[in-house]
Amino acid sequence: KRNVLIIGAGGVAHVTAHKCAQNNKLLGDINIASRTVTKCEAIIDSIKEKGNLQSPGVLRAHALDAYDIEATKALIRSTGSQIVINVGTPFLNMSVLEACIGTGAAYLDTAIHEDPKKVCEPPPWYANYEWKRSQACKEAGVTAVLGAGFDPGVVNAYARFAYDNYFDQVDSIDIIDINAGSHGRYFATNFDPEINFREFTSTVWSWENSQWKANKMFEHGKEWDMPVTGKSMAYLTGHDELHSLSRFLDVPNIRFWMGFGEHYINVFNVLKNLGLLSEKPVRTARGQEIVPLEVVKAVLPDPASLAAGYTGKTCIGDLVKGTKDGQPKEVLIYNTCDHEACYAEVGSQAISYTAGVPVVAAAMLIAKGTWDAKRMVNVEEQDPAPFIALMNDMGLVTRIKDEHGDRILNPMQELA
Ligand code: NDP
Repeated sequence: KRNVLIIGAGGVAHVTAHKCAQNNKLLGDINIASRTVTKCEAIIDSIKEKGNLQSPGVLRAHALDAYDIEATKALIRSTGSQIVINVGTPFLNMSVLEACIGTGAAYLDTAIHEDPKKVCEPPPWYANYEWKRSQACKEAGVTAVLGAGFDPGVVNAYARFAYDNYFDQVDSIDIIDINAGSHGRYFATNFDPEINFREFTSTVWSWENSQWKANKMFEHGKEWDMPVTGKSMAYLTGHDELHSLSRFLDVPNIRFWMGFGEHYINVFNVLKNLGLLSEKPVRTARGQEIVPLEVVKAVLPDPASLAAGYTGKTCIGDLVKGTKDGQPKEVLIYNTCDHEACYAEVGSQAISYTAGVPVVAAAMLIAKGTWDAKRMVNVEEQDPAPFIALMNDMGLVTRIKDEHGDRILNPMQELA
C-alpha cells in the first residue's frame, strides 16, 4: 500500500508528517489535510527546512473538514491515498473511519473516538464506537489499526510482547507514564487540552480482578522509580489501552498510572471545582452559550508551541508481573525520550514525538504487508516484534529491564 493522507495538523500530526517524509520511498506521496490549511503548510515548510524528505516526492497541504465523510472520501480518491493516518481530534474518528470503509483505504489513529457531549463513558470504550464498525471493516477488507500512538499503542505492543515471551501466567500489567520534562510555562497540557482534561474529569476506570473498577481521579497515587526519570508520583488514571488489553490478554489486573506534579494537580482542581472543565454548555449574562472546557482550551498554550525550549525526558513503560516456571517474575519494557533531541530532529516536544513515530511505524508495516490485517485490530492483536524493531530504527528505542539487567530490546535477538 502506498500514498498517505494525514488528517490533522497539530502537534502529533507534525511529527507524523516528518516521519512519513523521512520514509517516503516506502510510503509514496504525503498529503496533510486539516481544518486550517495554513497549519498543514507550516508543517510542510518545516519538513523542507529540516531536510527531512527522504527522496524527491509529493508533499501537499489540503483544507478539509473531516466530519464531512464525502469530502474525505473524495480527497482519499483524488490523492490516491491507500493509507489514512488520523491524528486530528478524536471527535473525528468515526467519520474518518467511515470514509476509509467507503474507499478501501487503511485507517490508523492514536486515540479512541469521543462524543463531545459525553465524558468517561461505560467501559470498554472501544465497544461504544469503533468496534461497532468491526464487521463493516471485515466485509470491506479494510485494515483499521486502532490506537497506534505510544499510549495507547506502543504500550499495548509491550504488553503483548511480555505476555507472549516471558511468562507462563501474567498477574498484572501497570502502564506508567512519566514526563519529567519542563516547558517553562505557568500551565500547559502536552497534547490537546480538551482531550487531556476529558480523561480526568469523571470516573477513572481500572481493570482489577478481571472486572472494571470505578475510581476517582487522584484517589490512588503511588511513587514509581523509573529508569532515567527516577522517582515520581503517578496516579491511577482512566486510559484507552485498558479497554482493549482487558479483552485481548488474559490478565486480571491492568492499570494505567500517569505522573503529575503538585502544581498540575492544584491548577486542575481549581479549574474543575470552578466548573471550568465541564463539557456541558453554560449561558453567559449576555445570553451566549459557551462550553467552559472549550474556553479553557482556547486560553491555554497550543501544545505544539511548547516544543522550543522544552527540556528533560519522558519515560513510559509496562511493568509486567507474573510467574515463569513456578517462580515469580517481573519485567519492565520501556522507552525514554528527550524533549530537546525531538526538537532538534523534527521541531517537536517528546509527547508529540512518542505518539507520532509509532503511528508511522504502523503505517509502514501496513505498507509492507506485515500488519495489513484487512480487518479492524487493536495494536496488541498484531505481532509486536516487527513494530518494536522498526521503531528502534526510527528514533524510539525500546529497552527492557529484568533479572538479566537493563538493555535495548531487540525483539529478533530476544526471541532467537
Ligand atoms: P491538536 O489539538 O494539536 O491537533 C488536532 C488537529 O485536528 C488540529 O490541527 C485541528 O485543526 C484538527 N481538526 C479538528 N477538527 C477538525 C476537522 N473537523 N477536520 C479536520 N481537522 C480537524 O492535537 P494533538 O496533535 O496534540 O493530538 C492529536 C491526536 O493524537 C488526538 O487524538 C490525541 O488524543 C492523540 N494523542 C495520542 C497520544 C498517544 O500516545 N496515543 C499522545 C498524544 C496525543 P485546527 O488546527 O484547525 O483546530
